[in-house]
Amino acid sequence: MKDEKHFDVVVVGTGNAALSAAVSASEKGAKVLMLEKGPEHKRGGNSFFTDGAIRFAYNDLAGIKRIVDDLSEAEASKIEMPEYDIKAFHEDLMKVTKRKSKPELAEHLVSKSYETILWMKEQGVKFIMNENQFFEKDGTKTFWGGLPVKTDNKGIGLVEALFEKAKANGVEIWYESPAVKLEKKNGEISGVQVKQSNGVSVVVPAKSVVLACGGFEADKKKRMEYLGDEWEEAVVRGSEYNTGDGITMALEAGAVRAGQYDGCHAHTTDYNAPRVGDYSKPGDIYKKSSYPLGLIVNTEGKRFVDEGADFRNYTYAKYGKETLKQPDHKAFQLYDSRVRPMLRVEYDLEEATVFKADALEELAVKMGVPKEVFLKTISQYNDAVQDGEYNPSIKDGKSTQGISPEKTNWALKFDKAPFYAYPVTCGITFTFGAVKVNDKAEVLDDSEQPVKGLYAAGEMVGELFYHNYPGGSGLMSGSVFGRTAGMSAVESIRDKTLN
Ligand SMILES: Cc1cc2nc3c(=O)[nH]c(=O)nc-3n(C[C@H](O)[C@H](O)[C@H](O)COP(=O)(O)OP(=O)(O)OC[C@H]3O[C@@H](n4cnc5c(N)ncnc54)[C@H](O)[C@@H]3O)c2cc1C
Repeated sequence: MKDEKHFDVVVVGTGNAALSAAVSASEKGAKVLMLEKGPEHKRGGNSFFTDGAIRFAYNDLAGIKRIVDDLSEAEASKIEMPEYDIKAFHEDLMKVTKRKSKPELAEHLVSKSYETILWMKEQGVKFIMNENQFFEKDGTKTFWGGLPVKTDNKGIGLVEALFEKAKANGVEIWYESPAVKLEKKNGEISGVQVKQSNGVSVVVPAKSVVLACGGFEADKKKRMEYLGDEWEEAVVRGSEYNTGDGITMALEAGAVRAGQYDGCHAHTTDYNAPRVGDYSKPGDIYKKSSYPLGLIVNTEGKRFVDEGADFRNYTYAKYGKETLKQPDHKAFQLYDSRVRPMLRVEYDLEEATVFKADALEELAVKMGVPKEVFLKTISQYNDAVQDGEYNPSIKDGKSTQGISPEKTNWALKFDKAPFYAYPVTCGITFTFGAVKVNDKAEVLDDSEQPVKGLYAAGEMVGELFYHNYPGGSGLMSGSVFGRTAGMSAVESIRDKTLN
C-alpha cells in the first residue's frame, strides 16, 4: 500500500487535460497527486497519440511568431497566413457543432486559447509549424484551415514536456492506480478511492479532485449502448483506458450528464490499424484524411459521400462514421497519379495498406470490389467533372454536375495511371457525452450548482462538442479547461490551509 498521504488536489488521468490541471495547480503551490490507470509506459492517454495539432486564435503571423521559436524571418517572409481571430475560431466551432456548443463553454475555449498557448510555451512545450496545413506554390506557403501550429514531436512531445514540468513542480504520479470512486464528507468531495495492483482499494484524502480521465470510447459495451451497435467494431485510435470511469464516478457523486451521448469524434483509419492505440508506434500514423483530393468508394464500388464538401478538418470525423455504416465497415480511398504526390505523410509510411495498379480493372480486382460497378462509378464521375480552376488551398468550387453524391470542390478527373486504393475503416477518437461543467471547470449537479470540490477537464467536459469538432480543438480544450480546473481547484481551497 502507498504511504497514507494528504493532497490538496488529486488529478485523475495523465493526458493533456490532467497534466495541464496538475501543472497549473502545482504552480500555485498546491500539493498534487496524479492517478494513472495504466502502467508508466502507457501514460499520456489519447493526448500521447495525437499529431499535436492545436487550434488557437492567433490573429495574424505576428501571433504565430510569438509561439513558434524556430520560425526565421526568411521563412516567415514566404508564408501567406490568413487571419484567424477569436471570432473565426468561435464561428468554426459553432459551424461544425451545428451551433449546439454551449455558449459559456465555447466562449471560454476560444477566448482563452491564445493566453493558454503562451502559458503552455512557458511550461516548456515547444511548437512548430504544421506541415500538413499549407499548399506551396511558386515558393509561397499558403496556410489554410486555422491550424498552422503543432507541438514539436507530436503528442509525445507535448505530454513529455508537461510531465517534466509536473515533476519539477513536485507533482507525484501513481501508475497502475485507477480511481474507482469519489469520497464525500459534509456534501464536499473529500478524496478518491484508488484500486491498487493487489486489488484492494485505498482512500486518498484530497481537498479537491480534478477528473480528466477521458470519455468512454474504449468501452465496447458503452459504445454500443450510447452510439449504436455498429460501433462495436470501431478501431480505438488511442488509449485503451478511457472506459468512462470518470463519468461514472462523477454521476455517483451528484454530477449530471451533459452533452451528446450518441455522438463521438471518429476518423477514417487504415483498415489494418491495431484495434487499440499501439504505444510502440506512437504518433497518429494510421489516419487517412487526404480524400478531398480523391474519391471514396465502398466495397460495392459505389461512392457515398461528397469528398470535397469542405477542408478535411471539417469533414473527417463525419466521414469516419459514414464508413462504419458501409458493408464490412470498409471503404477505399482512391487517388490517381496527378494527386498522389499531394497526399499527407501517413500515405507514405510502411504501415499504410495500399493497392496499386496501372489500370482501373486491375485495381478493382486487387480491391475485391465488383469490377463493372466500380468502372461505372469512375466513368460517371469523370463525365460529371466540370471545368474550373483547381486550387487545393481554397474551396475552389471545381465540382461535378449530375451525379449523386456530387463532389463540390477539388473535382479533377480520375484518369492518370498508376492508380492507388487505400482500404479504410472507422477509428473512434473520443466520445462527446460527458458531465455538466461551467467555465470554471466546476462539475455541476442537476440544479446547476457545483459539486463542491469536483472539477473536470478535457474529454470529460460535456456540451462543448456536438457532431464534430474543429481539428486541433480537442487538445486546446484539454489545455484551457485543464488549466482552469487546476486554478479553480486551488482557488476553492485557498481558505483551507494548503499542505
Ligand atoms: C489518434 C488520435 C489523434 C488525435 N489528434 C489530435 C490532434 O492532432 N489535435 C487535437 O486537438 N486532438 C487530437 N485528438 C483528440 C485528443 O487526443 C483529445 O481531445 C485530448 O487529448 C483529450 O485529452 P484528455 O486529457 O481529456 O484525455 P486523454 O489524453 O485520453 O487522457 C485520459 C487519461 O485518463 C486515464 N484514465 C482513464 N480512466 C482512469 C481512471 N479510472 N483512473 C486513472 N486514470 C484513468 C487514461 O489512462 C489517460 O491517461 C486525437 C486523438 C487520437 C486518439
